Amino acid sequence: MMGQNIEKPRAYARAKLWLALLSGAIELAAAVGFLVSRASEALAGWLAGHVPHAAIVAAYVVVTVVGLQILSLPLGWWGRRVEIRFGLNRQSLAGWLFDECKSLALGLGLGVLGAEVLYALLRATPAHWWWWAWGVFTAITVVLAQLGPVLLLPLFFKLRQMSETEEPDATMVRRLQATYARLRAEDPKLPRLHGIFEWKLGEKSAKANAALTGLGPTRRVIISDTLLEGAAPEEIEAVFVHELGHHVHGDIWRGIAFQSALTLLGFWLADVALRAFSPALGLRGIADIAGLPLVVIVFGVLGLLLMPASNAFVRRMERRADDYSFTVLGTAQPLIAGLRRLADKNLAEVDPPRWKEWLLYSHPSIATRIRRGERWEQAQNAALGRG
Ligand SMILES: [Zn+2]
Repeated sequence: MMGQNIEKPRAYARAKLWLALLSGAIELAAAVGFLVSRASEALAGWLAGHVPHAAIVAAYVVVTVVGLQILSLPLGWWGRRVEIRFGLNRQSLAGWLFDECKSLALGLGLGVLGAEVLYALLRATPAHWWWWAWGVFTAITVVLAQLGPVLLLPLFFKLRQMSETEEPDATMVRRLQATYARLRAEDPKLPRLHGIFEWKLGEKSAKANAALTGLGPTRRVIISDTLLEGAAPEEIEAVFVHELGHHVHGDIWRGIAFQSALTLLGFWLADVALRAFSPALGLRGIADIAGLPLVVIVFGVLGLLLMPASNAFVRRMERRADDYSFTVLGTAQPLIAGLRRLADKNLAEVDPPRWKEWLLYSHPSIATRIRRGERWEQAQNAALGRG
């Protein structure tokens, strides 16, 4: 495959896996330790004597989230070193620190909001809170999915709507829009797409990517500048049509539905765990804010156990989006070329071991995707030969 060095991507994948394992282990150990040592209860008790009653939940979240951030700072630093060592980082130290501060602020905002909602429900309806929490958190997920591309993503990246009328975009955008218009003419029910955006990833990373984001009026395809600058127009088109595949198949809604099912299971299990362990952990009932780490542990462990299932779910959507690109364009070659380019740029492990792909990969590996494209071409040629 392009005869590229396979050792470097393998080493990069190894480093990333260690980072993920360590950060998961640290977070889990911190939550368990905090709870079992009764430090959580002690913090809640101390706050009860020092902050107004109405602010206890928010204060607890601020202290624990900042604490966790400090604890995971060395790992974040190591993550940056890995990107630098493999030649993928383009961000200055100051820029990186600024991003860390912004994600901390965002985490605090969303964390306080989530915990306030959760504990209001736990107090108001102790028997049915998990059912209500599921509804409210699913609604929050939908709102965030809609606001993501206009509110959250711009906190970290510049996005620019690509112009239909001005170069250097015009030729490319007109080509992509003509493809989209053709598909819409064939299928008038095809939902609307609100723009194609250049995603300025290049000032932070050498990696390339593209995505479908947003809901309703914010639904758009974003393509990184790092992909736009090097790839042939037909490769960009093939990637764009892959994203259109997600659009046509309603994959963002499918993802939200899957996430929502997980959330329901998580809150129900959290209810079971809170009732079972509250006395032993010295909590004053299930609505004691000191029990929050237990809710976090339940979601963390559940997410880990269901990772193979959720990855399989996403990989299936990816395969269908690839197939959509092959069918719409009548060829698999441009997407195959685009995938090879992405693999090169992102130092992707092209052909990882089966178990690794099955367990950890949210996309099929590049080799799997290319093999699928080649099989599609062969089937196509065989059919044409017979016809
Ligand atoms: Zn995709």
